[in-house]
Amino acid sequence: MQLIVDRLTEDPTELTFEGSPDWLRELSDDSELGAAVVSPLQFVLRAHTIGADLYLEGEALGSFDLACGRCLKRYRQPVREPFRLVLEPAGSRIPADPEGAVSLARDGLVLSDELEAGWFRGPEVQLDHFLQEVVAAGLPFTPLCREDCAGLCPSCGTDRNLEACDCRQERPPSPFAALAGLRDELARKAPADPGPGRRGEGEET
Ligand SMILES: [Zn+2]
Ligand SMILES: [Zn+2]
Repeated sequence: MQLIVDRLTEDPTELTFEGSPDWLRELSDDSELGAAVVSPLQFVLRAHTIGADLYLEGEALGSFDLACGRCLKRYRQPVREPFRLVLEPAGSRIPADPEGAVSLARDGLVLSDELEAGWFRGPEVQLDHFLQEVVAAGLPFTPLCREDCAGLCPSCGTDRNLEACDCRQERPPSPFAALAGLRDELARKAPADPGPGRRGEGEET
């Protein structure tokens, strides 16, 4: 998707773009991302100028076929990732890192680390790499088929979403139970109201 700089004004222009699964595969270094995409990605964005700067905001929508991190079942993960980007004219500046310089020469665009700001150069800005990064950022760090997925039994491998197993569930004691025990113990040791003069009682110094 290209942004033609001359066509933008102070009034937002709405632009849409559809990225096919092949489009994503070609762009992405991450082969898992390319393999998991199941339908065309939709991008809607509004672009306008603020002085010499370009301001973009929009949303990426897509759908991915991922494996649940708990039960390993494949499931459909919708992605809806908002984004915004402020681009300053690069002028004669040169990006510090070589990769940034390559990107500025190739795409007319170099992004800062935060993905929300960058520089542009020339009459056309190629947004494909930026949009691909937005999509990647929209995927969950730990994919879950559902929020309360019970996962697989670590002993016998039974999918605990489907059936219970006979393995003994040796749950570690709840940290809250431990805290409650500590609280009771402190309550027994300390007088109900130590008063200001007795605060240090019981402490080793
Ligand atoms: Zn699951
Ligand atoms: Zn089991």
